[in-house]
Amino acid sequence: MELHELTLEQARELLDRREVSAKELAQAFLDRIQATEPQVRAYLTVTPESALRQAEAADQALSAGRSGPLTGIPCGIKDVFCTKDLTTTAGSRILENFVPPFDATAVARLKRAGAVVLGKQNMDEFAMGSSTENSAFGPSHNPWDLKAIPGGSSGGSAASTAAGSCLFSIGTDTGGSIRQPASHCGVVGLKPTYGRVSRFGMIAFASSLDQAGPFCRTVAGAAQVLQAMAGHDPADSTSSPLPVPDYGQALKRGVKGLKLGVPKEYFVSGMDPEVEGATREAIKVLQGLGASTVEISLPHTEYALAVYYIIAPAECSSNLARFDGVKYGLSVRQEQADLMDMYLDTRSQGFGEEVVRRVMLGTYALSAGYYDAYYGKAGQVRTLIKEDFLAAFQEVDAIVSPVAPTAAFELGQKADDPLQMYLSDVLTLSVNLAGLPGMSLPSGFSPQGRPIGLQIIGPHFAEETVLAVGHAFQQATDHHAKRPAL
Ligand code: GLN
Repeated sequence: MELHELTLEQARELLDRREVSAKELAQAFLDRIQATEPQVRAYLTVTPESALRQAEAADQALSAGRSGPLTGIPCGIKDVFCTKDLTTTAGSRILENFVPPFDATAVARLKRAGAVVLGKQNMDEFAMGSSTENSAFGPSHNPWDLKAIPGGSSGGSAASTAAGSCLFSIGTDTGGSIRQPASHCGVVGLKPTYGRVSRFGMIAFASSLDQAGPFCRTVAGAAQVLQAMAGHDPADSTSSPLPVPDYGQALKRGVKGLKLGVPKEYFVSGMDPEVEGATREAIKVLQGLGASTVEISLPHTEYALAVYYIIAPAECSSNLARFDGVKYGLSVRQEQADLMDMYLDTRSQGFGEEVVRRVMLGTYALSAGYYDAYYGKAGQVRTLIKEDFLAAFQEVDAIVSPVAPTAAFELGQKADDPLQMYLSDVLTLSVNLAGLPGMSLPSGFSPQGRPIGLQIIGPHFAEETVLAVGHAFQQATDHHAKRPAL
């Protein structure tokens, strides 16, 4: 087995037994990046020198017996997280040359835990999209089928984890951007409860929905990464003060005696039969492991897409107002132009089409005279969606469903049809509106050999249950052990 084929847990063991050094491991992943990037294009920036320096520090910590669960583990970071002295673009021309003076809290915590950062990963511009085709720097490709999208917006992070060009990565999920690409690339992707991980230093899309989380090939690995990232941060007032449980311990719980809900609204028309089939099979596996299942109803599901596409654009129009050519990134200053020209020129040259569409939608929804009818009303329906889940969790411990209605589609197939693109997230965005934890994990393949994902949704701050169900599933199946032929 080659080093880039290891799981995070296997790499941990080899590092701890000093059978491989952190430097060798980092070099193996840098080589793998070189070998796979021409096809996959998962990275926007690769940082070999600093990666090898961090790996040397990790080797010293290991020799001194000062190591932690992530010491020496090579990872990638979605380019939406600020990284000190390292370009952070959010996939946008407007931030093409932006070099933050500080690390996002999530990144700082990974570094503190000893992780080795290999580089920054591709994404849809400002995390708006489901395919990475909205990246200003060109799309990433699905390692299972290079003609297919890797999903989005964290497509680079998912594709890299699947391609073995990092051992884990971190992304963000506002309406599905961790779970949907994880599903399409056949890896684990976990969106924690809103507030579980600090948003400080994450370039904001929709602040009431954004949350950061890990990609990894195994649930056990994702648990270790979440452990390092989670917890209160004084720099983010929405981060929760609740103590962070021992997620490694939680994996041992299994599913015996758990009651799982299967929402009838999540088997939508237009869903590929193989997605439904893989989900039903996965449910049987969980039943075989001792879980009971019951059909449940989340009656306001049909409104989630409409509510999301008011709330997310509204918040984005406000968050993106800061990119005006004055302080951050691109600044287009024509001679004899006034301030308004500078704003207009900078924003029209710096933002791509989808971002402009969202800013316009959001500005409209927030404008005087329309605010109550749109943003206000959407907030009320959002509460109903959340209450559906709270009622369901009176009865069940977790919810299982498909992640996306289809396996990965072709690059270009939906690029000119925003509504079709938005529909990729119908099964994930309710979880963000309700602020719940949700995970995608590999549950099968389409006849074309493209991965299919299973979604596990838990009550607020019940990441332990989500991880326990996912780990039990991976112990009993081998979908996650398959690798793309690259
Ligand atoms: N695809 C959804 C959107 O474009 C979700 C994106 C995300 O989660 N960041 O808004």
